[in-house]
Amino acid sequence: MSDVELVLRSTRVITPEGTRAASVAVSAGTITAVLPYDAPLPEGARLEDLGDDVLLPGLVDTHVHVNDPGRTEWEGFWTATRAAAAGGITTLVDMPLNSLPPTTTVDHLRTKKDVAVDKAHIDVGFWGGALPDNVKDLRPLHEAGVFGFKAFLSPSGVDEFPHLDQDRLARALAEIASFDGLLIVHAEDPHHLDAAPQQGGPRYTDFLASRPRDAEDTAIAQLIAQARRLDARVHVLHLSSSDALPLIAEAKAEGVRLTVETCPHYLTLTAEEVPDGASEFKCCPPIREAANQDLLWQALADGTIDCVVTDHSPSTADLKTDDFATAWGGISGLQLSLAAVWTEARGRGHSLEDVVRWMSARTAELVGLTRKGAIEAGRDADFAVLAPDETFTVDPAALQHRNRVTAYAGRTLYGVVRSTWLRGERIVADGEFTNPKGRLLTRTP
Ligand SMILES: [Zn+2]
Repeated sequence: MSDVELVLRSTRVITPEGTRAASVAVSAGTITAVLPYDAPLPEGARLEDLGDDVLLPGLVDTHVHVNDPGRTEWEGFWTATRAAAAGGITTLVDMPLNSLPPTTTVDHLRTKKDVAVDKAHIDVGFWGGALPDNVKDLRPLHEAGVFGFKAFLSPSGVDEFPHLDQDRLARALAEIASFDGLLIVHAEDPHHLDAAPQQGGPRYTDFLASRPRDAEDTAIAQLIAQARRLDARVHVLHLSSSDALPLIAEAKAEGVRLTVETCPHYLTLTAEEVPDGASEFKCCPPIREAANQDLLWQALADGTIDCVVTDHSPSTADLKTDDFATAWGGISGLQLSLAAVWTEARGRGHSLEDVVRWMSARTAELVGLTRKGAIEAGRDADFAVLAPDETFTVDPAALQHRNRVTAYAGRTLYGVVRSTWLRGERIVADGEFTNPKGRLLTRTP
């Protein structure tokens, strides 16, 4: 056993057993012990005294569109992982689409890894993609270490990533279930979208009407039926419609292998406040009404929704036109997700421990990253140091995202990330970054 090199001491360390004053011992990048606050410093160890700043496990964001290679003018591994680090995220899992190539074959996965390896400031894993014509690629991708497979049930927004109809969904899910993989799904039903009024133009109410709740509810019901039939593991991406919550709760109670995520923008922004023409607020499914948001918070509290991820999906500013029908759909939130969620959570009476559970522990669990998501012996020494009661006002110019378009501009948020640590090394503090120290992660067999 190697000697303790570093001890991080704080009056508020968030552990799986609760928040307490503690000293966290680190050796060779791994947490070796969570000791009493005033435990004597092991010989030769360096002390990092954090005072009253909170030490929490680095966040694990399992829904990020890095778009690299291929659409690097939208984002890229360098900028995305710096933004994530600045926001207290230490692991991200990259979505298979919007990059060129998409991550739909083992060859394409290799291409993406080659691009990412020298640019990753935090740890990076990859989702594979399930397309109508790549069922034969799913098992090889699984064996190559992707964390699961993403599918769309309605058009994805990019031609190279077509969606699955119900037959193709059944075929892909049967294949994925054969090796007990995980299918993650953009659940909006295309027929309900087609039937909805497609006004176009700058009015947010028209856009909202074009992506109705029943499109989500129907697609989720279909997905649950397929998962039940095949005893397959499925995950609902970016849940927005609170109308789907009862059927999700029922399916979970019945034992369907179902998990669900939602996103900071659904939890902190409301349809009522989106200005017309402000397509930095456009995403699919859309940000809905305040009453809908209240129910999403309830569902997080009672466990119907498992976790919170960014769905960071940027584009260049010119694609964010004032026509909601044609503007690129996607919200940039990587650097701000912790502060945005914490700000709303504290106002609603939730604790920072809750936020850590939703944004670190449960997401790590979703993808089986047993070394991430908690401050306890045996896990990677990945941390965020947070001043939870300090505020800042979001200045787009201060963001590390390649394109500094954000729906959060001008908002005052609680929670200043003082520093972020990866395997015992401080990778960013006060806007100063080290060289990239991230690793590429593969699914633990
Ligand atoms: Zn997404």
